[in-house]
Amino acid sequence: LSLSDMVEARRICVCVRKRPLNSKEVTKNDIDVVSIPGNGTLLLHEPKQKVDLTKYLDNQVFHFDYSFDESSTNDLVYRFTAKPLVQTIFDGGVATCFAYGQTGSGKTHTMGGDFSGKSQNNAKGIYAMAAQDVFALLKQRRYSGLDLCPYVTFFEIYNSKVFDLLNKKAKLRVLEDEKQQVQVVGLQEMYVSCAEDVIKMIEMGSACRTSGQTSANANSSRSHAVLQVILRRRNQVHGKFSLVDLAGNERGIDVRSSDRQTLVETAEINRSLLALKECIRSLGMDSHHIPFRMSKLTQVLRDSFIGENSRTCMIAMVSPGMSSCDSTVNTLRYADRVKEL
Ligand code: ADP
Ligand code: MG
Repeated sequence: LSLSDMVEARRICVCVRKRPLNSKEVTKNDIDVVSIPGNGTLLLHEPKQKVDLTKYLDNQVFHFDYSFDESSTNDLVYRFTAKPLVQTIFDGGVATCFAYGQTGSGKTHTMGGDFSGKSQNNAKGIYAMAAQDVFALLKQRRYSGLDLCPYVTFFEIYNSKVFDLLNKKAKLRVLEDEKQQVQVVGLQEMYVSCAEDVIKMIEMGSACRTSGQTSANANSSRSHAVLQVILRRRNQVHGKFSLVDLAGNERGIDVRSSDRQTLVETAEINRSLLALKECIRSLGMDSHHIPFRMSKLTQVLRDSFIGENSRTCMIAMVSPGMSSCDSTVNTLRYADRVKEL
């Protein structure tokens, strides 16, 4: 086995991606405290306070399967993270890719892409690239005989409630039957005939995600967004790929100045991210007890944590600035805990 084959065979892949300092940070004279020497390594130059209150920097070293520096493109990140998982769903497995990190660290840029026009580097995201590869494989001769039909769902989990992004944010119920099968009742599952169809759904759902003060949340950074590509064969699920843009894990929310709503949201986000960590870890340890009921997120993604043929990838996003240091440490420790032992 070559090294790349070994990484291929891993059930859990954990990577880190650093974005460039943005103009706001540059204006505020924020400094870059993250360096990526390569080979999955990341160095955090954390500011420490000496007793006499002068600041000095302390190096912390982290190791992951891959580390992507600020010059990495979405295309490169995709090639090492989600792309190898596309095969899994054709082989009848469950694949899951998570984008984790504080708000503003690049989760949506990585997953959904950046077509706002505000950014110079307009780039396709992992959602669209994965969709393209799914259709490329569907056309291959070894799979064309299987009669696989692709469908898409796109939903959001906010404060433990599920909203359908492909159906005007309809609020949906989650049910678990006696066989522990979890079902999101009424979730729209749209048939898609080409990658462009998927991209249209993503655009539609993303617009739905950020719009509307009327339904529960006005702020997409407080919710988890889940895009699923489902391959059906004679109406049975053959394989499923879940691509998850997680809610921001930011640290330092001021308890005194936050309103009740924000505190409830924050507690709920923390609870679901803790549950996610535990569930991914139990996948890596072949544990029989998967604590998927700990949160709505893990309950809905239950299939991702069970089965012989489940594979997961987590991309931990970090902001480079010293001002983000607390959240960055939090993100790196979390990602470190998720790694397969
Ligand atoms: P999040 O979804 O984690 O809150 P975003 O993806 O919205 O963060 O990113 C915040 C801002 O930073 C956006 O304007 C985005 O275009 C920009 N950005 C994020 N990652 C990168 C990157 N790797 N290269 C260039 N710009 C980026
Ligand atoms: Mg986002």
